[in-house]
Amino acid sequence: MDLLTEVPRGLFIDGTFHPGGERAALINPATEEVLCEVDLARSEDIDAAVEAARRAVPAWRSLSAAERGAWLLRLADALAVHRDLLARLEALNVGKPIWECQRIDVPAAIEAARYFGGVVRSMHGAVLPTEGPSLTYTRAEPYGVVVAIVPWNYPLMLALWKIAPAVAAGNCVVLKPSELTPLTALLLGRLLETLQFPSGVINIVPGRGVPAGERLCVHPEVDFVSFTGSTATGQRVGSLAAAHLKPQSLELGGKSAHLVFDDVDPVHAARIVFNGIFLSQGQMCVAGSRLIVHQRVADALLDELTRRVARLPVGDPLAPDTRVGPQASAAQFAKTLRYVEEAAAAGGRIVTGGGRAPGQERGYYVAPTVVLDPDPDAPVVQDEIFGPVLTVQRFADDDEALALAKRSRYGLAAGIQTHRLERAHEIAAALEVGTVWVNTYGLMSPAVPYGGRRASGYGRELGLEGLYKYTVTKAVWVALR
Ligand code: NAD
Repeated sequence: MDLLTEVPRGLFIDGTFHPGGERAALINPATEEVLCEVDLARSEDIDAAVEAARRAVPAWRSLSAAERGAWLLRLADALAVHRDLLARLEALNVGKPIWECQRIDVPAAIEAARYFGGVVRSMHGAVLPTEGPSLTYTRAEPYGVVVAIVPWNYPLMLALWKIAPAVAAGNCVVLKPSELTPLTALLLGRLLETLQFPSGVINIVPGRGVPAGERLCVHPEVDFVSFTGSTATGQRVGSLAAAHLKPQSLELGGKSAHLVFDDVDPVHAARIVFNGIFLSQGQMCVAGSRLIVHQRVADALLDELTRRVARLPVGDPLAPDTRVGPQASAAQFAKTLRYVEEAAAAGGRIVTGGGRAPGQERGYYVAPTVVLDPDPDAPVVQDEIFGPVLTVQRFADDDEALALAKRSRYGLAAGIQTHRLERAHEIAAALEVGTVWVNTYGLMSPAVPYGGRRASGYGRELGLEGLYKYTVTKAVWVALR
């Protein structure tokens, strides 16, 4: 396929591409056929990437913030020039509709580079009031070598959410894309090469969790581990990094509640609920996968949801009108269907969907699915499925709604739909999550910190918090007499 001739092969280390140790086939999720082969990093390749990053640190951190920012702005421009190619590659590799890649994934990656390229110029320490004749100030210094491990659901966007603030702050980075979806990251490497971005500042090494990911978590020259992925892998990454005393941030899974009260228009509410769960085939960490709806508006909302699902064009991710593509992998396809079958067997009512998408004989297509009145403790309600599956629980009053919302080990995000201001603020304050959306769902900005609590991890991406995360504070005392 022509598109793939644009993608360089190998591992991007120290400013150029090198062959990696293991060749692996990527599968096209829309056809189940081999898309192409890519190189995956072995332990020794990881060592080479970390060493390149380490060598690059002194020169990179000694540039001014404005100079580092200017490099990021050049990168943002290069990404923007190649936005269509990047969107098509993401759609092909991940299986998500090109419409989404063009409107969400690629613009969000570019915006992150632009935001951190600019805001780094205001990064600063503080002068502190101390007793006695001294000037005492803090410096926000880069750690050195930052490792960025990202999943397959938003490969380019999540890569830039880590790379941009980390290099803006003066660190050098080793990015490990998922072994399933490395194509846009490889093209990113080609853009860095073409720009002559300083060698070793950004290294890109697609590889498996073992050996590549684990080697990154324990390498003695790595100073900070920034991970996004599942809760189970996050626990493993976190314990490896902690055993080597490496600071870390963990952006993990979610099972977010979306509460709809009876003072809103259920037809309008259904549109927000729908986008909150069915974009990206439900493969969003923030997916509003638990609908908690007042019993008075539940039927009308479900009718509208079902109508919307029936209208969704399902098919080729590269077709401009497609709104539902395949799940990204055979494993995701099987896992999603297993949860739905178990939920139905346990008494949950399948309102719509419930199996392979009709008319799609090949590819990992799952019909958008709504499960009504499941047992609140059933796996379909409590586990992150990461597929297009919405559970629906009905409530009679605010206390019951809040109790259902809190009945989860995750703490990533939540949605609230109500016109009563005091209720919205009270519930927003009561939920133990990192983000709350009121009368909307899923909005993101590079200026707004984002991350989880509890089983959804800790640390924040984006915003000033996401920039300072990649710095360590040094206090300097200067005697004045
Ligand atoms: P995953 O945990 O399987 O893999 C994530 C990354 O970790 C991949 O690059 C993988 O190769 C690597 N990895 C796997 N095992 C490893 C190990 N032992 N040591 C080091 N690295 C290892 O997750 P996934 O299936 O790729 O992605 C889906 C998950 O990501 C979902 O749980 C989703 O909620 C989560 N996610 C979270 C956010 C967030 O910001 N909170 C954003 C997107 C996705």
